Amino acid sequence: MTDLFDIDAQAVRLQQRDISQPSLPRGQTLPPLALIHDASATLPHPSDQNFLSGQPAADVARHITEHIVPALCGQSQSSRYFGFVTGGVLPLAEWADNVVSHMDQNVQVHLPEQSVSTIVENAALQMLIGLLRLESDWKGRTFTTGATGSNVLGLACGREAILQKRGASVGELGLLGACVKAGVSEIQVLTSGGHSSLSKAASVVGLGRASVKELPRSAAQPWKLDLNAVERELSRPGTASIIAISMGEVNTGGYALDDVDEWKRLRQLADRHDAWIHADGAFGIFCSVLDDRDEYRLLRNRVKGIDLADSITIDGHKMLNVPYDCGMFFTRTSSILESVFVNPNAAYLSPGPAASIPSPLNIGLENSRRFRALPAYAVLLSEGRPGFANLFHNMAQLSRKLAVFLRESPYYELLPDESGDIEEIFIIILFRAKDKKLNDELVAKINATRQLYVSGTSWKGEKAVRVAVSNWKVDVERDFRVVSTILNDVAEGRDFDIEKCL
Ligand SMILES: *Cc1c(COP(=O)(O)O)cnc(C)c1O
Repeated sequence: MTDLFDIDAQAVRLQQRDISQPSLPRGQTLPPLALIHDASATLPHPSDQNFLSGQPAADVARHITEHIVPALCGQSQSSRYFGFVTGGVLPLAEWADNVVSHMDQNVQVHLPEQSVSTIVENAALQMLIGLLRLESDWKGRTFTTGATGSNVLGLACGREAILQKRGASVGELGLLGACVKAGVSEIQVLTSGGHSSLSKAASVVGLGRASVKELPRSAAQPWKLDLNAVERELSRPGTASIIAISMGEVNTGGYALDDVDEWKRLRQLADRHDAWIHADGAFGIFCSVLDDRDEYRLLRNRVKGIDLADSITIDGHKMLNVPYDCGMFFTRTSSILESVFVNPNAAYLSPGPAASIPSPLNIGLENSRRFRALPAYAVLLSEGRPGFANLFHNMAQLSRKLAVFLRESPYYELLPDESGDIEEIFIIILFRAKDKKLNDELVAKINATRQLYVSGTSWKGEKAVRVAVSNWKVDVERDFRVVSTILNDVAEGRDFDIEKCL
C-alpha cells in the first residue's frame, strides 16, 4: 500500500482504462468449479485444533491470494459476465476505493473543518445530477449501499410525505399512530414491473409486500404502467398511495412510462390525490447519458420527465463501474429525509450552526458509514460525459448486435417481442431457445463454457435467458464474436473453444 499515492507507480494500472484488451486472461468469467471446492476445503473450521489461534498476516495474505482469489467469480474482470447487472470496476475506481480503505473516513457528520469528505460526497452527487441531465437540483441527496437501500429511502420518504399531507408524521408517531390520526386505512405502492427489492423495501418500511400492486398496461407489455388503473386506485377513499416507476425493468429493460407527456399526466394525478412518485432508475436512468443521436432518441425520451418524480433510486455499482457497494438517492428536499432519518438528541454529532451540507447521518439509514462517494467522484471526474457516453454506447451496441443476431437466428427467439424495435434496447436482452429441450438446459449449457455467464429467468411461464451488459471492458466486436459463437455451438451441440474466437 506504500505506493498507493505514488501516481507514477500507479500509472500502468490506471492506464488500463485506455488499452484495448485483446489478450484478456482466459477462462475467468467463472472460476473452475474445482477451485471453489478446493478453496472451501482450506477455510478454518471450528473443530480444527488451531481454530482462531492466530497466524502471521503474510500467511493469511498468501492464503487469500492462492486459494480464495482464484475461486472468486470473474464478474468484474470479464466483459462477458452478463448476470444480474453487476458492472465492473474502472481502474481509477479501484484505486480510489483503496484510498477509501486506507484513509478510513467515517462520513456521518458534516465536519468541514475536520475533513473534506462530505464536501466531496456532495460534489459527486452534483456531478451525477449533471451527468444524468436532471433539471431540478435535487437538494435531498445522499449515497446509499445500492438501489435496494435507495428504494427503502424512497418508500420511507413517500410514506412520510403522503401522511404529512394528511396531517400526521410517521417519523414522530409511527405508522400505526400516523395512519389513525390521518384517517388512512391503507397505504399502497402502485407499480408495473417493480423490482423485487421494491417489495422488500415495502416490508422494511412497514407497508408490507402485499401493498405492492402491479398495474400492467397490457399482458404483452407488463412493465408499462396503466395510468387509467392508477387513477382508479388513487381515488379509493381512505387510501394513500406511492407510485413506483420502473425505469429499466429487470427482464426486459423496459420503462413504465413512454415519454414526458405520460410523466405530466402522472404528476397531475399524484398531485390531485396527494400521492408520492418514486422512480427506480437503478441502471435504466443512465440511458440519458447516451449521445444525442437518432438511434438513442427513443430511449432518451423514456427518461425525459423524470424530474417530475419526488424521489429517484440510482445504482453506482452497476453502470458507473465503481466497486460494491454504492448507490444514490435523490429527493427534492432534505427536510423530508430528515423527517424520517434524523438522529435526534445527540449534541456531539452536531455539525454546528448553518451547515450548508446536511450531515449524512440525518438523511440516511446509517450513522457510521464508508466514504463510498470517493470512487464515484473519481470516475465522474475522469470519464465526464464523453467517457460515460462512450462506455454506455459500447454496451448498447453489443446488446443491440446480439439482439439482431438472436432475432435472425434459426435457434433462438428474441423476447419479449421479435418485432420489437431494436432502439428500445439499452443493455438488457431477453431470449429463449425455440427448441423446448434446448431451452430447458440453455442457461446451464451457456454457463458451462465458463466464458460467458447469463441469468436464467422466466417469461410468460417459460424459461428464458437474460443478458445484462454493464462492464466498461466491453469490446463490441470481440465480445459479439465470442457470444454468438457460444450460442451457435450450444445450439448445434459443439464444444466451444475460446482459442478459435480471440
Ligand atoms: C439492481 C436493481 C435494484 C437492486 O439494486 P441493488 O444495488 O442490488 O440493491 C433495484 N432496482 C432495480 C431496477 C435494479 O436494477
